[in-house]
Amino acid sequence: MAKTLDQLIGEGVTGRRVLVRSDLNVPLDGGTITDDGRIRASVPTITALADAGARVIVTAHLGRPKGAPEARYSLEPVAHRLSELLGRPVAFATDTVGESARETVAGLDDGDVALLENVRFNPGETSKDDAERKAFAGQLAGLADAFVSDGFGVVHRKQASVYDVAELLPHAMGRLVAAELDVMKRLTESPQRPYAVVLGGSKVSDKLGVIDNLLGKADTLLIGGGMVFTFLAAQGHQVGKSLLEEDQIDAVKGYLQRASESGVRIVLPTDVVVDRSFPSGDREPAPEVVAADAIPADALGLDIGPESSAAFAAELKAAMTVFWNGPMGVFEVPAFAEGTRVIAQALTEVTAAGGLSVVGGGDSAAAVRTLGFADDAFGHISTGGGASLEYLEGKQLPGIAVLER
Ligand code: ADP
Ligand code: MG
Repeated sequence: MAKTLDQLIGEGVTGRRVLVRSDLNVPLDGGTITDDGRIRASVPTITALADAGARVIVTAHLGRPKGAPEARYSLEPVAHRLSELLGRPVAFATDTVGESARETVAGLDDGDVALLENVRFNPGETSKDDAERKAFAGQLAGLADAFVSDGFGVVHRKQASVYDVAELLPHAMGRLVAAELDVMKRLTESPQRPYAVVLGGSKVSDKLGVIDNLLGKADTLLIGGGMVFTFLAAQGHQVGKSLLEEDQIDAVKGYLQRASESGVRIVLPTDVVVDRSFPSGDREPAPEVVAADAIPADALGLDIGPESSAAFAAELKAAMTVFWNGPMGVFEVPAFAEGTRVIAQALTEVTAAGGLSVVGGGDSAAAVRTLGFADDAFGHISTGGGASLEYLEGKQLPGIAVLER
């Protein structure tokens, strides 16, 4: 069993330098944070350590820089928001393990908090070369006396600040990771039935493994978003100009077959909202509702239709456990956000009726917040899309396994 944060704190952390891997990978729009959910989720662990007198050194990534500093991926705007949410100053180091990091850490008093610059500015962070990764992890470890893993969004990654550093320092599991794992266990070990899973978003190939594993667990699988069209194509329908992963059609046919054999219901939309001009140029969206089995050749499917939304919502309201990953449509454009809104609303009703509703995925979380839903209307909003999907696929998460050693 991994050590808990409370156990680590109980051993005494006053004056100890504790490196915390958080997930602060928030969406930024020209320097403005558009959804601070992940920063908020990181607060409890940092606060608990600082309150206990630790010198807290937070390391995190933002976006996908290519192993070198890039101004647009700087964590500096995040440091400001983190400081506001913690209600205490956050010293910002302008590098990851260099002079600024060392000086910033040396300047910490008991209970102070520092944030290091984007850990992916260093090529060692994500290197596939074990030696290069370990060398960088060694530099990170050199800044601290203990390590707390709290970045749930990255625990499925074998990266220096997630995996290798845990091999070098006494370590514990942060509150967020513990809470996320708790929910994932509830979804997989003995979910209250009926258990419905809603999958959407843009890439079928990312989510096939989950479908595979859930066929043995969920009662109903509702498919929306860009994935729909590969399913419709597998049933022999035309999908016009909609998103289609042709190389996945055979795999999807296999799942449809297995689902019908195993008694799992896969529910597809019966109508879709299409546009024949979007997204070329600045034209106003021109949404049209068409039957899912009669998508015109020049149409691009961008949301599930109203009949489908209503049918999906009815399925969800009958469920006691719901896991949802992936928006039902291109919710970023209000004309195509209705399907996503109706599903979000249905999940809040599951919560209100005493069931467990879980939203997973960065865009899905952003979508429910953008659409004005309160976080506590859901049982849980996961901060880790990829990690929660891999957990549901039944894979071992390296960043968790390493904590158990
Ligand atoms: P999450 O981050 O929640 O796991 P994904 O990253 O898989 O979700 O997918 C999110 C994206 O899917 C959104 O940006 C949304 O615009 C896009 N999307 C949803 N429906 C469609 C569609 N019909 N066609 C193209 N993209 C879609
Ligand atoms: Mg996404």
